[in-house]
Amino acid sequence: MEIRRFFVEKSDILDGKVTLTGDEFYHMTKVLRYKVGYKAVILANDGIERLSVVDEIGKDYAILSIEEESVVDRKNATVTLYAGLLKNNKLDFVVQKGVELGVDNIVPFISQNSAETKFNFERAGKIALESAKQCGSVYLSRVCDLIDFDQVLDQFKDYDKVIFAYENERNNRIADAVKGGKNIAIVVGPEGGFTPEETEKAIENGAIVVTLGRRILRAETASIVSVTLALEALGELDYD
Ligand code: SAM
Repeated sequence: MEIRRFFVEKSDILDGKVTLTGDEFYHMTKVLRYKVGYKAVILANDGIERLSVVDEIGKDYAILSIEEESVVDRKNATVTLYAGLLKNNKLDFVVQKGVELGVDNIVPFISQNSAETKFNFERAGKIALESAKQCGSVYLSRVCDLIDFDQVLDQFKDYDKVIFAYENERNNRIADAVKGGKNIAIVVGPEGGFTPEETEKAIENGAIVVTLGRRILRAETASIVSVTLALEALGELDYD
């Protein structure tokens, strides 16, 4: 029996016991047909893997006992990707790759040049969960609901570094810009890019504009590249 991984909230863990409900309960018992005595790895977004055994399966809950805990992945910094909404559900691809890479939060936004206005929040959340399980992540990246560019600007104050990918920037590199950051935002525009006014406002609000090289990358490529470069510079792509 393969030991499968399930994500819970920290509040679902108490005194060595885990309560599994909702989609993860459904997946465990209806899809994977788990029985009492089966083992599972329980994750609660804290870098710890909890090897657990199913004690009880109720109508809409399962209770597991934690047998062994191991700290697997302590983060040096958290990275939030603000990604301009993309056409043809390409943002789903960005969510999947961002989770594989270990980004902490993904926030889709609409700006002046956005060609898309609809975002399927539930579907993106499911893609994030499935991707976190597939890649064996100890963290479940949070996908947020759609906001507009003014809200993005307003959230800059929540970070110690805001990195703004801008194709007209010639000098600043991500690896230098993220140095020393603990809670970092990376902002990547939609297919049509940012307007000069949006870029100006971002700089006024403290963003550091960075180049991803001389070629103009597709928005989805720019999201993946910028997250990779930032995580690598922060030591988040080291194995241990
Ligand atoms: N404005 C571009 C144009 O007219 O071709 C298109 C924007 S590009 C497809 C989408 C986003 O990717 C940009 O808003 C920017 O955030 C990022 N990007 C693409 N290439 C980049 C580069 N070489 N340096 C920095 N950011 C880049």
